[in-house]
Amino acid sequence: MKYRRLGRSGLKVSEISLGSWLTYGKSVEDNVAAKTIHKAYELGINFFDSANVYERGEGERVLSAALREYERESYVITTKAFWPMGDGPNDHGLSRKHVTEQLHASLKRMKLDYVDVFYCHRYDPETPVDETLRVIDDLIRQGKILYAGVSEWSAAQIEEAVGVADKYLLDRIVVNQPQYNMFHRYIESEVIPVSEKYGIGQVVFSPLAQGILSGKYHANQVPEDSRAANQSINRFITGMLNEEVLSKVEKLKEIAKELDTTLPTLALAWILRQSNVSSALIGASRPSQVEENVKAIDLHISADIHEKIETILA
Ligand code: NDP
Repeated sequence: MKYRRLGRSGLKVSEISLGSWLTYGKSVEDNVAAKTIHKAYELGINFFDSANVYERGEGERVLSAALREYERESYVITTKAFWPMGDGPNDHGLSRKHVTEQLHASLKRMKLDYVDVFYCHRYDPETPVDETLRVIDDLIRQGKILYAGVSEWSAAQIEEAVGVADKYLLDRIVVNQPQYNMFHRYIESEVIPVSEKYGIGQVVFSPLAQGILSGKYHANQVPEDSRAANQSINRFITGMLNEEVLSKVEKLKEIAKELDTTLPTLALAWILRQSNVSSALIGASRPSQVEENVKAIDLHISADIHEKIETILA
């Protein structure tokens, strides 16, 4: 495994990290989830992602239980808050009340004293940023959070967060967690340049476009044991399974073949070419997927190959 700094912080995270959305505590049996998480750890992955909202805490429960057999110092575990956890007016968002209550609920579920990274899962237009950063700073002082992050914040929102933190001498955010893959590149124009300026790293989710960039989907043909075939979770992926995307996938596969590698390896290596990316945050429904995906750390994308990929994606 190779490790990178999480933004400007001193924290080192594996280039490939593993998350628990739609998989652990949901579509993957607990024992298979544990085997997959253990495989990731054995391969050097030290960075594991969750959120309170993933199956209302089940994702956190399964992930933390599997990691409990390892030294706490040896892994980095995250959670998030923002999305609704109940129907009440204070059951969502980034208010002092909700952030405090949710962090404590997450720690209790995960049987942890602290999380390494706490993310604001989205920007909350109904809470002043100084209220949110202040409560996160308080929880950092209490030793319950080590680093602050945001997820899917725009460049302007990231700049606002940095300005507010500096004004009130609060801990700055060190990481943003946006979606980024060959088919979803909006962060390249503004989010990455602004993040580079302020020492904020990207931990990018859905790097394989939820499995589409594994190359296993074909027109009118969905593998039975795949996310797209599972009716309880496929609403997030089916919209992307169209002819245009799938024909590009076939062309990308040819490039992978030329390099004597597989498409998921190529797609993840393409992400890791970005120096502002701290980690590519994958999902995996079985150990073999982790084994295949970590190979990306050793694949170098030459300028020539990069250009060929750009032509296909254009
Ligand atoms: P990916 O793009 O890596 O998709 C993961 C899925 O693709 C797997 O569960 C598996 O699904 C399939 N897959 C992975 N590797 C392979 C392979 N080698 N061959 C074939 N199929 C493969 O990421 P996710 O969309 O799952 O997101 C990853 C993590 O990012 C989440 O767990 C979560 O922690 C985080 N996230 C954060 C969000 C946010 O708002 N901050 C939003 C979404 C995700 P299957 O086998 O079932 O087909």
